[in-house]
Amino acid sequence: MKVARFHAPGDIRVEEAPEPVTGAGEIKIRVRNCSTCGTDVKISKHGHHHIRPPRVMGHEIAGQIVEVGQGVSGWAAGDRVQVIAAIPCGACSECGRGRMTVCPNQESMGYHYDGGFAEYMIVPAKVLAVDGLNRIPEGVGFAEASVAEPLACVLNGQELARVGEGDDVVIMGSGPIGCLHVRLARSRGAARVFLVDINAERLEMAAALVHPDAVVHGQDVVEQVLKLTEGRGADVVITAAASGAAQEQALQMAARQGRISFFGGLPKDDPIIRCDSNLVHYRELTIVGANGSSPAHNARALQLIAEGAVPVSDLITHRLALTEVLEAIDIVSRGEAIKVTIEP
Ligand SMILES: [Zn+2]
Ligand SMILES: [Zn+2]
Repeated sequence: MKVARFHAPGDIRVEEAPEPVTGAGEIKIRVRNCSTCGTDVKISKHGHHHIRPPRVMGHEIAGQIVEVGQGVSGWAAGDRVQVIAAIPCGACSECGRGRMTVCPNQESMGYHYDGGFAEYMIVPAKVLAVDGLNRIPEGVGFAEASVAEPLACVLNGQELARVGEGDDVVIMGSGPIGCLHVRLARSRGAARVFLVDINAERLEMAAALVHPDAVVHGQDVVEQVLKLTEGRGADVVITAAASGAAQEQALQMAARQGRISFFGGLPKDDPIIRCDSNLVHYRELTIVGANGSSPAHNARALQLIAEGAVPVSDLITHRLALTEVLEAIDIVSRGEAIKVTIEP
């Protein structure tokens, strides 16, 4: 079968590999869609300390079961399924408290296990053990189902930031994650959603799809948001960009008792920002992080897609073959697409 494997930074190869064999407790799927995101760009450029090459990349996975391993029940060949990306251990004290997104033993598809840039893939026993395989609801396509994983991360972020009824929400960053944030905030009852980006072209493309109440770009984004919110600031500000400057601006544009989500992480070598602690103190701000998603978030994300609460099919702007995976990663890296999916 064909796979796309990471060998070293800058060295991803589409090559032939033997079809994986289904072990006891595992499930083998025919991958139908594996979508790409900024993480794939990061891995392709810098690698990752959890990846021991050669490793099949791809973590936004949807496909069809072809074989069920010994000892696995409840699944059959032909079932259409979506696979989680982050795998909590299910046994540590965080998992025991239901905090699966911050499991210190977390492993990931495409890092510790071969991922979805392949014709066939094994769903590891550890995924099945934490209910990490989801049935794709009727009416939801494989490509849409593959977007459940990033939507699950977005859902985790908005739960932690308590996005709800009547909130004015600012999303900083108009990539695929920013677009999902806009749509999810609407479905959670946000009053107004404003979309911010420094890249005017990308902002325009995103706005044409997700229709924020206003777009903001330029040097004075804080002033613009204050103006849009009658001087109050935003109830929730979510930074969906790897930018310390955006995080600093987010603190300044938050309303009293506002919540700020540092959704996107910062570069490892530059993670320090300036924070006016008195702003947090007197305005009773809440700053939250977000680290991936739990298996339950994935299941709920699929449901949101199926119900039409968060449509995603129009966000998939590019569909490429497995042999074009390098081009796909390039398109993502240039910010020319909303969502790029691979169809192995
Ligand atoms: Zn991703
Ligand atoms: Zn754990």
